[in-house]
Amino acid sequence: MLGVYVHLPFCPYLCPYCDFAKWPLRATSAQRYLEALYAELAREQWEPAATIFLGGGTPNAYDAQTIAQLLARINERFHGASETTIEINPELVHPGDFERYREAGVTRVSIGVQSFEPQEIRTLGRKHTVEQVDAVVKAARAAKISSISMDLIFAVPGQTPQSWRRSLERAIELGVDHLSTYGLTIEAETPYAAWQAREPGAFFDDTREAELYELAISTLQGAGFEHYEISNFARAGHRCAHNANYWANGEYVGLGVGAASYRGGVRSTHTRSFEEYVSAALAAAAIPCQAERLEGPKRTGEAIMLALRTSQGVGLGEFKERYGTDIIEHYAPVIARYAEAGLLERTGDYVRLTERGRFVANDVCGAFVTFD
Ligand code: SF4
Repeated sequence: MLGVYVHLPFCPYLCPYCDFAKWPLRATSAQRYLEALYAELAREQWEPAATIFLGGGTPNAYDAQTIAQLLARINERFHGASETTIEINPELVHPGDFERYREAGVTRVSIGVQSFEPQEIRTLGRKHTVEQVDAVVKAARAAKISSISMDLIFAVPGQTPQSWRRSLERAIELGVDHLSTYGLTIEAETPYAAWQAREPGAFFDDTREAELYELAISTLQGAGFEHYEISNFARAGHRCAHNANYWANGEYVGLGVGAASYRGGVRSTHTRSFEEYVSAALAAAAIPCQAERLEGPKRTGEAIMLALRTSQGVGLGEFKERYGTDIIEHYAPVIARYAEAGLLERTGDYVRLTERGRFVANDVCGAFVTFD
């Protein structure tokens, strides 16, 4: 299957921990950017796509009418998506937005909440209120959006296990269908990186962060969510198909500044320079990008790394058929090392992370990528 990601990079304000390709919202740049996106969309005969994902940035920094027009253009070029997601910031939602989105084909909204604790919301530099989040979830439900997802962040300076539990429980009470929980990552050259350099003690160490992750797993599983990927939890029937395609090493097209694609074995990432992207797209010139063909051990290592993120793990027979590699044979030393440590296990035709393994997933998965 093919997934389509469209990057909408404008935000009403910039959060101090964020490293995404994003810019403060300005009407003229936002309009120019849309024209560049339309030009990029029109330049190829695309094949049908199974999923569409509008991410950012803050996609709903554009009004709902503009989003509907953009989705109409995307659907014209990539027919047949059965799942269409839009990421939204709760404080930018207006009455009637979800109805417009649904009419335009949106089936899934992903709400950037991060925390329900006012102090943590301020620390993260976000501007919404808890009441706005409640109202947004209700409005999305009333508009019959099929799946409602929420992002929450743990290991925020000042957070406690109690406050983290309160955020998780509030999300559960609101009846969301899907939750993504991410440990705060400190990205270089962000205001948070400068803060951490000044005051390292304000930030969580790995052990305390792992306690919060464990709390998320037990709280959400206890409430009936399936922990189907390292950072993702879903009620039955509400897994994110778009992201599942990434983890299955499926093909995807990324449109917009900084967007990544994976097609025909080549992974490419557009320039993160706004001006370079817009000028090239509008001139119908090649969009500057970094591209790499994934072959041999690099290709198989990355495919295993992605599949291991899921609760199912990597299917041995299916993998051999698709890549011609017998994982058990080829990666015997890596598997033995992590199986002995209790971090990897084999169940039937699958190799997967154990519950403990999920806490050190980056190390275990990374070992497959670097093994030759
Ligand atoms: S709203 Fe999202 S994309 Fe925009 S600055 Fe904040 S975290 Fe980054």
